[in-house]
Amino acid sequence: MPSNPPVAEIPDFPADSPWARATAAWLRGAAAALGLPHLAFTPATEIDQHERYNTWLAADYAGELVYLVREEQRLARRDPRHLLESARCVCTVAVSYLHPALDQATETDRSAPNALRGQIARYAQATDYHIVLKQRLGRLAEALRQHLGTAVAYRVCVDTAPILERALAARAGLGFQGKNTLLITPGVGSYTVLGELLLPFALPSGQEATPHCGQCRACLDVCPTGALVGDYLLDARRCISYLTIENSGAIPRALRSQVGTWIFGCDLCQQVCPWNAAERPGDPEFRPRRDLAQPELVRLLQLGAAQFRRYVQRTALRRVGRAQLLRNVAVALGNVGTAAELPAIAAALGRESALVREHLYWALGQIARRGPAVRLQVTAQLQAAQAAETEPAVLAELATTLSELRDP
Ligand code: SF4
Repeated sequence: MPSNPPVAEIPDFPADSPWARATAAWLRGAAAALGLPHLAFTPATEIDQHERYNTWLAADYAGELVYLVREEQRLARRDPRHLLESARCVCTVAVSYLHPALDQATETDRSAPNALRGQIARYAQATDYHIVLKQRLGRLAEALRQHLGTAVAYRVCVDTAPILERALAARAGLGFQGKNTLLITPGVGSYTVLGELLLPFALPSGQEATPHCGQCRACLDVCPTGALVGDYLLDARRCISYLTIENSGAIPRALRSQVGTWIFGCDLCQQVCPWNAAERPGDPEFRPRRDLAQPELVRLLQLGAAQFRRYVQRTALRRVGRAQLLRNVAVALGNVGTAAELPAIAAALGRESALVREHLYWALGQIARRGPAVRLQVTAQLQAAQAAETEPAVLAELATTLSELRDP
């Protein structure tokens, strides 16, 4: 039976002591061997950016992300010691998930080369990063215990604990925050997932990174919903990632046509970033799953509850429920659908929830604008639906869509 290492106090060595330097060097080597090659340290102290963060919350840019506003979470975000009282150091890591995009139509689905396809943010096309990073950081902490020969209080955070991870990573020198608010690690880019290991002793801190965006504003210009309302300032309520993932209700009508075919997250502000221009294959564990790269929209619309559970298993898509995903699929179909998709939409209308129906009727209204014959067919379908529908939100959508078709 393996025995637990003895619990012993680690002397309170300063961050520039030989012990701290040796431990930091050991951690770098051990982390690289565990698939965490990009790592930096910063003291577990109050975060300067916290005031900027509070101003962002006060401006209501967080939308439905109410958990960000709760007092205990705000305190924890201000100072990592609220998450682990004994924390002296934050070890922050970034792992690249960049891989060449799979061309689903030619690589895996030659039978439907013209099928309409949705887009899923790259990080979500592979194994859920929460699973991967938690496991690796946990193993790193265990290896550290073995190395030191004593129990060490630690805490692993991967996007689930309230912590300003990008601000901490920038302070540790792991990268800088770009105007799109994401962490950009020179030589790696911004297609990274972040994690933290809180440790109870001081380690040598990296040099805080300064922003290197210069005059570039490609991310601000490309965002179709105008979510980047200023340099380093994101209005989450307009962000496609927020609208398709965090937002549990209806996607605002005024923004639906700008969401395009994104059905879970969005990569546009990363695609245009010059720091992501170089092709560097990321971590093998984050190779995209073929059925998540450009999935066929109509097939998604037909997913039953059990099929949906299998489809999202061990992926970040678990964050949304089936109705939310189908809501997003409906919007994408509205943006690119044609008469060919009408039968699949009609079938879904007969079985789906009010949230999905509301967006499917909106989609029908959009498709109807693409030809006079479709317009007649859809108008008759919407009028018939008005007589049978009982949900107020769906009835309101039907009334608006019909009035737009009458008076374009
Ligand atoms: Fe900065 Fe340009 Fe990248 Fe935006 S696209 S984060 S402005 S370098």
